Amino acid sequence: MSDKEIDRLDIRIDQDRIRDKDRDTLKVIESVFDFQTSMLIVKLMNKGIIKDIGFCFSTGKEANVYHGIGYKGKELAIKIYRTTTAEFKRNWMYVEGDPRFKGYKKGTYAFIYTWARKEFKNLKRMNEAKIRVPVPIIVEKNVLVMEFIGKKEKAAPLIREVNLKKPHKIYGKIVNILFRLYDEAKIVHADLSEYNILYFQKKPIIIDVSQAVLLDHPYAPVFLYRDILNINRYFSSLSVNVIPDGELYEQITGTFPSPKIISMEF
Ligand code: ADP
Ligand code: MN
Repeated sequence: MSDKEIDRLDIRIDQDRIRDKDRDTLKVIESVFDFQTSMLIVKLMNKGIIKDIGFCFSTGKEANVYHGIGYKGKELAIKIYRTTTAEFKRNWMYVEGDPRFKGYKKGTYAFIYTWARKEFKNLKRMNEAKIRVPVPIIVEKNVLVMEFIGKKEKAAPLIREVNLKKPHKIYGKIVNILFRLYDEAKIVHADLSEYNILYFQKKPIIIDVSQAVLLDHPYAPVFLYRDILNINRYFSSLSVNVIPDGELYEQITGTFPSPKIISMEF
């Protein structure tokens, strides 16, 4: 065999090996994900973004979140939006008034892809405004890859799962986040509560931002008021002396909430 032929054979063996590896990976993940999602993950592996995908640490109503490892060994959170869910229909109004999503395509898949992309963009926006959120890495269709908040395969707990020693301090930090979301990122979270704030290294970190809307969204004031109510309700239950709802709203926006906002008629 000539050198050239050996080279060619090497290349062929290499290609087969890669294909076999893909096939093995596929076999594992195909038992968990639908075919399309499996292919997407293989694609992200070939792109060098995901090295390994591990256990599922959350099965929410619209997405499952998996632990992963990136190529530099960093831990990843891989949020995979379910493509079979009716839940998404009620989320319509969050996208509808958002100028960033003008001209999106109707239809379930397109909608879910838009939803995942919206979460990615919102994370990016908050991250750029220096608000501590999981750093977004990539979004492809219904798969969002982001920084894992936690250590050694142990995800950070939600604030509701932690026995906060100084809840008033954490309340202060969350109020500060509310201000910065509004002033610097020019966004309203719109689903803020003790269920969407992680507690990591003694700091609150907000997550789950797919429904967040820009300040010019017609419902932004109502969503902000609701976020304030949720946070105040939770921290009141921990005996924190909270800033009254209307007052906090006024401090953040510069105007008192109208009766319409308070009654949440939308
Ligand atoms: P949903 O509530 O729509 O199911 P979330 O974005 O809130 O989706 O994620 C579900 C759960 O997964 C969270 O409550 C949190 O425990 C965990 N989680 C989500 N993103 C991360 C992350 N980047 N790092 C660590 N844990 C996360
Ligand atoms: Mn959530």
